[in-house]
Amino acid sequence: MSVVVAVRVRPFNTREIGLNSQLCIDMDGTRTSLLDLNDPKKNKDFFFDYSFWSHDGFELNEEGLAIPVSDRYADQRAVYNQVGQQILDNAWLGYHCCLFAYGQTGAGKSYSMVGYGANKGIVPIACQEIFERIKLNDNPHLEQEVSCSMLEIYNETVQDLLIPVTKRPTGGLKIRQHQSLGFYVDGMSKHPVESYNDIEKIMDTGTQNRTVASTQMNACSSRAHTIIIIQFKQTEEKGDRKYEKLSIINLVDLAGSEKVAKTGATDKRLKEATNINLSLTTLGKVIQALADKEMGKNKNQVIPYRESCLTKILCNALGGNSKTLMICAVSPSNDNYEETLSTLRYADQAKKIKNKATVNESATD
Ligand code: ADP
Ligand code: MG
Repeated sequence: MSVVVAVRVRPFNTREIGLNSQLCIDMDGTRTSLLDLNDPKKNKDFFFDYSFWSHDGFELNEEGLAIPVSDRYADQRAVYNQVGQQILDNAWLGYHCCLFAYGQTGAGKSYSMVGYGANKGIVPIACQEIFERIKLNDNPHLEQEVSCSMLEIYNETVQDLLIPVTKRPTGGLKIRQHQSLGFYVDGMSKHPVESYNDIEKIMDTGTQNRTVASTQMNACSSRAHTIIIIQFKQTEEKGDRKYEKLSIINLVDLAGSEKVAKTGATDKRLKEATNINLSLTTLGKVIQALADKEMGKNKNQVIPYRESCLTKILCNALGGNSKTLMICAVSPSNDNYEETLSTLRYADQAKKIKNKATVNESATD
């Protein structure tokens, strides 16, 4: 099964309006085109599983919620219905799942993943739905348990966002390798949750604990990768045996993909920039290597999962046992043409990756 890839384009921001930016994205069905405003012959067409037009065709209500006024506009619900819902469907069947958000800083990764204000994103909507679905379970022999964890990778250091800063080990958590289970983060805290309110509270804590490193482009932690991990365990008693199905859902808001120069990184940030590039560059290398393999090129090359924290943790999500989706956020503005082209090319590689997801079920006496 291939990695499912979606692209989403946002409205102009105030900076782009100030620059009198021109729209350089068009979408129609599964086609996304990057327009060359000087020469239409140089327009570039890409095809993805989903293309979400969120550039215009909406009005904000008094709560700031975007209400579609055109059929073309994809609101948060529409994105959830097409991208988020299938994660839960697969989790219920016992598959591991992963959703990445990729794109340059300010393109709309966090808007799609977490959302802002009334415009809740895929993560909160999915969490709400998990508990709604659990409520519908009327099988007295089936137990369904949810727990969550939250990690940040910053400067190639893995921190547990749900452990208070003062109690964290210096140097962060170590990634270890288990013979059959693969890579895991040693000492990561797991928090059982029984309602949407529980999970919301935990995620708020995690978000507040994030490393805040300001760059010229974005005052928030655009240089860090944030991973929300939801473990969904179903235990069913059949006669005197118990069957356990486990699904691990990784929800990943990646660091901004822009080239470092554009963010104005100075010398003291150089180490940081290099390291952050390591996780993101390695993700790119892994995607490239897997895509090559699928195309019959360099069949025997080793996939460089080990070269960064991010690719170790998400090893399963890439070419392994996982149903994986990627949502690529792009700016609508010709001012960001080069970054958007690089995002669309990245997305084009990602869609070639094939995973081999299997149901994670085991029986115990
Ligand atoms: P990123 O996480 O990629 O750095 P954000 O998601 O924080 O970017 O988005 C940057 C800004 O653009 C935010 O103010 C956000 O509200 C706005 N934005 C992003 N995507 C959309 C969208 N689809 N509709 C409306 N506003 C959006
Ligand atoms: Mg963000």
